[in-house]
Amino acid sequence: MAAKRDGMGMKLIGVITMVMALLLAFAAVPPVTAQDEEAIAPLEVYALRVSNAPERSRLVVDLERTTQFAFVSLTEPLRIAVDVRATDYDGEGEGMPAGEGMIASYSVAQIAPDRLRTELTLSGPAQVQQAYVLEAFDDQPARLIVDLIGDTEENFGRRAGLDMGASGDASAADVELADNSNPPGTSNIERDTKPLILLDPGHGGADGGAEADNGIQEKVVTLAFARRLQEILINTGRFDVALTRDNDDFLRLEERVQLARANRANLLLSIHADAFDDPSVRGASIYTRDEQATDMLDHVLAEQENRVDLLGGFAPPEAEPAVVDLLVDLMRRDTRRQSFVAATAILDQLRPSIFVRRFPQRRADFYVLQSPEVPSILLELGFMSNDQDAENLASPEWRDRVAEAVARGIALYFDGIDGTL
Ligand SMILES: [Zn+2]
Repeated sequence: MAAKRDGMGMKLIGVITMVMALLLAFAAVPPVTAQDEEAIAPLEVYALRVSNAPERSRLVVDLERTTQFAFVSLTEPLRIAVDVRATDYDGEGEGMPAGEGMIASYSVAQIAPDRLRTELTLSGPAQVQQAYVLEAFDDQPARLIVDLIGDTEENFGRRAGLDMGASGDASAADVELADNSNPPGTSNIERDTKPLILLDPGHGGADGGAEADNGIQEKVVTLAFARRLQEILINTGRFDVALTRDNDDFLRLEERVQLARANRANLLLSIHADAFDDPSVRGASIYTRDEQATDMLDHVLAEQENRVDLLGGFAPPEAEPAVVDLLVDLMRRDTRRQSFVAATAILDQLRPSIFVRRFPQRRADFYVLQSPEVPSILLELGFMSNDQDAENLASPEWRDRVAEAVARGIALYFDGIDGTL
């Protein structure tokens, strides 16, 4: 079964769990530090953007660092208010969203010393489809992303009622803020239990990637595909789905890897459509990391501290270097195995839907696939250098069909994980 882990994978996980349990048993319990509830740590909101698309509206808040947030539904007029724990914001107090859609206008106000509220006035009932905070990486700030989709009048009214009941007065500044989770009543989003899928449209900005004879650029195709796949995956209700780039930005490869690692993505799917000298070569293929490849991250991992970090607190800082080595190695091997299982699951769904290359499941030394702890796959949708593939890649209907297949593969892969862990 493509989506199931095999016995070896289970054994590896078993070993990791056992070793970690042993380490934990001997590790000193760290002292619990009391949080000073009264102190308000300064936190700046750098910028915020509100945009409408045909079926989705989005609020993006650029933050000095990750912070807590909450959202509530309000009536008369229909609004969704998004609060973030922040102390400073120098931008505009109100504005109109880019594009036409569910958000008619918005206003921003500091409603408490540590709370900035963005009130989205709606043109009709809407709900928060997903909301999550992304860690800062490199020169990109931390970000809160809130996606809205349409809803029924009845559902909206029910949520507004619950929000009012949960907070006493939802319009006041007393809705509880939380890390990546929703306050009571606001929505059925359970961020903590949903896997995060990070889609990585290849290229961008000055780097157009491969170009077809019909003038279409790889960077455009990969972004269109990633957006469609994001929509399909979100609509399953099972995943949070982020993009490494949601516009024509140029992102370095290490930024893409860092984004996956910093946010502890459960799967990184990099999307490409490359070119080849021989124009007759066509079809989709899927890559996982070559087992023989030397990781460029090795120099980072050479530091004992970083390796302990990587193990996410499962190894005590005073662990013997040899033990840490063993754990890192097990983790890396398990990640590669999971990547392979996910790639197989996706490929199994792709085969009946589209033309795939001969030997479509491949391994290569791609930089973007080297996260030691994030299962990572690179999907080549087809060849821009082949006329038939280029025509397909330009077709929204074709991309729809392929995105549906990829989404099924991803869901099956996670079914396998759920079924065995
Ligand atoms: Zn490419």
